[in-house]
Amino acid sequence: MDNTVEKVIIIGSGPAGHTAAIYAARAELNPLMFEGLVPGGQLMITTDVENYPGFPEGIMGPELMAGFRDQAARFNTRMEQLDVTEVDLSQRPFQVVADEKTHLADSIIISTGASARWLGIPGEERLVGRGVSACATCDGFFFRDRHVVVVGGGDSAMEEALFLTKFASKVTVVHRRDSFRASRIMATRLKGHPKVEIIWNTVVNEVIGDDAVEEISLTNRETGETSTLACDGFFLAIGHTPNTKLFEGQLDLDDTGYILLKNDGSTTTSVSGVFAAGDVADTVYRQAVTAAGTGCRAAIDAERWLFERE
Ligand code: NAP
Repeated sequence: MDNTVEKVIIIGSGPAGHTAAIYAARAELNPLMFEGLVPGGQLMITTDVENYPGFPEGIMGPELMAGFRDQAARFNTRMEQLDVTEVDLSQRPFQVVADEKTHLADSIIISTGASARWLGIPGEERLVGRGVSACATCDGFFFRDRHVVVVGGGDSAMEEALFLTKFASKVTVVHRRDSFRASRIMATRLKGHPKVEIIWNTVVNEVIGDDAVEEISLTNRETGETSTLACDGFFLAIGHTPNTKLFEGQLDLDDTGYILLKNDGSTTTSVSGVFAAGDVADTVYRQAVTAAGTGCRAAIDAERWLFERE
């Protein structure tokens, strides 16, 4: 146990965490950040980022995150490349455990993000960034006049597929059942779109291609029939999992595990002094720029909260 009480500990090192760090450090809160064993968040598995303002030519995801990190380091954010394994928000100062060492903090900013769900089928991971993507908003632009496949039957799949129709020549939605889980309005919009074809009752077995996606292998669950479908892009839209396991039972979460924020427009969670930023509390936007924005807000909220307590 280190008896030093930190003013603020930031958990997570995506755009939200680093922006919170930049603001907290410049407000002289001397933040300590736990970056995680795999730092940088979802942008580390994104290739070109063309929608982050300020980079008119686009920037590679890992390069953008390196910039975020350098900027947080420039203002002396202390960073530990460790996973937080336990938190105790029931006592003050709060306790944060990493590498079996307990750290104390007056306030905490949670920016642990969310992870896209993957199917875990052969070829999928190998071809990420080469036709396989879990973010149509990020990568759809690269599929102009191409044929893309979207997997999923929820609102995300509808939204991603409709977004992709702006670029792609054809969008095929593959769903494992015979009806969509998505809201009726979204499903109706998708079904009526001239560029969209829907393949029902079907699962994807494999993504095939040497250097880029070339085709996928499918099985119809009713007939057992297996086939292949040529395509250029393969988009997963089977949901995201917020990284909130650490906080279960300690913070109010919604029924899908996202952190619930106080209904006052701030980043305050159900525990006073604990703030959340980025995808971990965002079921709607999930963009790097919106995550960065909430990271800024969380640092300002934490600073004001600490100041009022003093
Ligand atoms: P979701 O509602 O959980 O839907 C996930 C979809 O992926 C389901 O259709 C599911 O199939 C399918 N799926 C899951 N695992 C699969 C697997 N291993 N293989 C094949 N298919 C699989 O997730 P979401 O669409 O990301 O939405 C999450 C929440 O955000 C929802 O509450 C949604 O309403 C909300 N949201 C809202 C909007 C909007 O209003 N604009 C946009 C996006 C998301 P089954 O149906 O068979 O389970």
